[in-house]
Amino acid sequence: MKLSNGLNLNSHPSGRHFLQIPGPTNVPDRILRAMDYPTIDHRGPEFQQLGRAVLSGIRQIFQTEGPVVIYPASGTGAWEAALVNTLSPGDTVLMCETGQFATLWKRLAERLGLRVIFIEGDWRHGTDAQAIAAHLAADTGHAIRAVCVVHNETSTGVTSWVPDVRRVMDEAAHPALLLVDTISSLGSVDYRHDEWGVDVTIAGSQKGLMLPPGLSFNAISAKALKAGEQARLPRAYWDWQDMLTSNANGYFPYTPATNLLYGLHEAISMLLEEGLPGVFARHQRHAQATRAAVRGWGLEVLCADPALASPALTAILMPAGHSADAVRRIALARFNLSLGQGLGKVTDKVFRIGHLGDFNDLTLLGTLGGVEMALGLAGVPMQAGGIQAAMAHLSATQPGA
Ligand SMILES: *Cc1c(COP(=O)(O)O)cnc(C)c1O
Repeated sequence: MKLSNGLNLNSHPSGRHFLQIPGPTNVPDRILRAMDYPTIDHRGPEFQQLGRAVLSGIRQIFQTEGPVVIYPASGTGAWEAALVNTLSPGDTVLMCETGQFATLWKRLAERLGLRVIFIEGDWRHGTDAQAIAAHLAADTGHAIRAVCVVHNETSTGVTSWVPDVRRVMDEAAHPALLLVDTISSLGSVDYRHDEWGVDVTIAGSQKGLMLPPGLSFNAISAKALKAGEQARLPRAYWDWQDMLTSNANGYFPYTPATNLLYGLHEAISMLLEEGLPGVFARHQRHAQATRAAVRGWGLEVLCADPALASPALTAILMPAGHSADAVRRIALARFNLSLGQGLGKVTDKVFRIGHLGDFNDLTLLGTLGGVEMALGLAGVPMQAGGIQAAMAHLSATQPGA
């Protein structure tokens, strides 16, 4: 179909597109229907009920009793919000190079005028808690104001164990804030804002929360709120105080993304109906089956630490001389399957399978089937047997057991 504005929509391919990138993820029908309502007056009484319901419900997903603010913004906005609400120009922050998202967060911090100590990494491991400990021990003057960690590094498929970071901060008796990016893990990977002593947790709508892009979040500790009183980085749109003042009555300081909030209300219900432990176990099991498939193909997972392999996505390393992007192009053209591209330092060296969000055993097998065929068509040296290994894992394990 050729539209009058020149946009060419090719005839619709039958069946569902497999959107198996690690975000945006597939939006379930229940959420699509929940958003398909007229937009209402965001200062009216009906909105107040919605605002109160989502602002209170979302705390359960972060596992916090404290406030969570919701921005009409992508995850990047919530990164910025976390920094500008807690820090002052020239402050030092400690970050770890786990991959491309950690690198982007670092660049954002530098543009805001922060001084970043960046602990280098090889993009195959999680945050190095020992290196953080060494920096904190050397920082006797407490120049470091925040430690920033990406919980699930979406470019590599490696998680970081946040309680280890909290422990080394406590052992050093260091007063820095702990800021954690859970944009691709919230609602997929076990995460506990309060219990783990995190000061600001950053999240987005389009990954584990199964929503379209357009919402992002800051969960805020009492310590972070207090730090905000002294923080001098300029902030207007992102100001927590404006948000919290309006949120106290279920409202927002400016026009919220009303229809996305309808969807968020539904997403919270879906996650709580399944139960967070069940949601986390489901993601673990699908990640294990995916890694079994990769082993079956005789290929290598980018994550070098099996204990930290991401439950949300798997990055697969290409044998030398083979292009990951060629595999992805074939998967899309032949099988209507979108796979995640390699980012930054691993461009064309890896492709990523997103197995998070609205996902089940047969979605996984369809995805892995498409990957196996695309690898074969791309001429990547591999063994048959990946799908068999994944099916064996899924047959041998019970969902939720
Ligand atoms: C997707 C992602 C981001 C960026 O979020 P946007 O919504 O694209 O701004 C940041 N960090 C992580 C870990 C991500 O997965």
